[in-house]
Amino acid sequence: MSALLEATNLRRHYRVRAGQGLFAPKAVLRAVDGVSLALRPGRTLGLVGESGCGKSTTGKLVLGLVPPTSGTVHYRGQTLPPVGTPAWRGLRRHIQMVYQDPLGALDRRLPIGTQIGEPLVIHEQTTATERRDRALAAMESVGLQRHQYERYPHELSGGQRQRVVLARALMTGPDLLVCDEPISALDVSIQAQVVNLLLDLQERLGIAYLFISHDLKVVRQVSHDVAVMYLGRIVEQGEAESLFAAPAHPYTRALVAAIPTVDFGGGPKRERMLLQGDPPNPVNVPSGCAFHTRCPFATAQCRAEAPTLQPLAGGRMVACHRVHEPALQVAA
Ligand code: SF4
Repeated sequence: MSALLEATNLRRHYRVRAGQGLFAPKAVLRAVDGVSLALRPGRTLGLVGESGCGKSTTGKLVLGLVPPTSGTVHYRGQTLPPVGTPAWRGLRRHIQMVYQDPLGALDRRLPIGTQIGEPLVIHEQTTATERRDRALAAMESVGLQRHQYERYPHELSGGQRQRVVLARALMTGPDLLVCDEPISALDVSIQAQVVNLLLDLQERLGIAYLFISHDLKVVRQVSHDVAVMYLGRIVEQGEAESLFAAPAHPYTRALVAAIPTVDFGGGPKRERMLLQGDPPNPVNVPSGCAFHTRCPFATAQCRAEAPTLQPLAGGRMVACHRVHEPALQVAA
């Protein structure tokens, strides 16, 4: 099956001041540094990593909201047009974004029904009656009640507000949603409801998700494929089930080991591998493998040479010099 969305060697670099004060020297912040991704129709690609690893910037790059320093994005085989052009606006009806903070994404002064119907004002010629009818249908499809049409965002719970955002995103019949930490601002009890809703919408409507999150537990629930980012680069990607069962990159292994589980005893013991320290400053990325400052398996080669993504069995790609070494597997 051909890719719905394909990003190739995406880079986004920023010139920033390397220190305090007006005359501090300029440096390059490599927010995204050579990311390639492919997402098939109706599938979910989970993009995971710690805060500041570049996953949200990657989401904005594939939407065209941030122009790349270099690299390309193709949607259904077509190059993404420049942001703001009529061609880009036409394409945006097929690719929508769901943000972390639903209250910030909504206008507090407008009833939610009006806001859900807004995309039709931008993308289609519709009457007010049509907009209302379709907004009500969208509300029902995400589990909101018709009588809530005239409610304002502050009158709803966090979970209901995220349903409003989803209903609005669905109005133009998108086939791709870029979900940037869509549940991390919600109470834990509500998170499961929104995850179930996303899964249900995918099954009913065949929508693909680029699901950006730092929460591996949730990514594991929703994703068919996973890409793990560290300091602007993908260090491991592959099919979700096998990646969570047998993570290969030391960074992925540490992230998977940190997923909370309930231990009822009797089962096999999980690998314990704790991440040491914070991620380095992206303005000053370590030489060689960027993970070497935190990796218990780092060697002189790791400190000198940056590893590239290499294929493993089952379509897995891993950027680690030592991934094929049995010694590394035993040491873990
Ligand atoms: Fe660790 Fe070296 Fe692999 Fe990087 S390349 S993850 S430092 S073993």
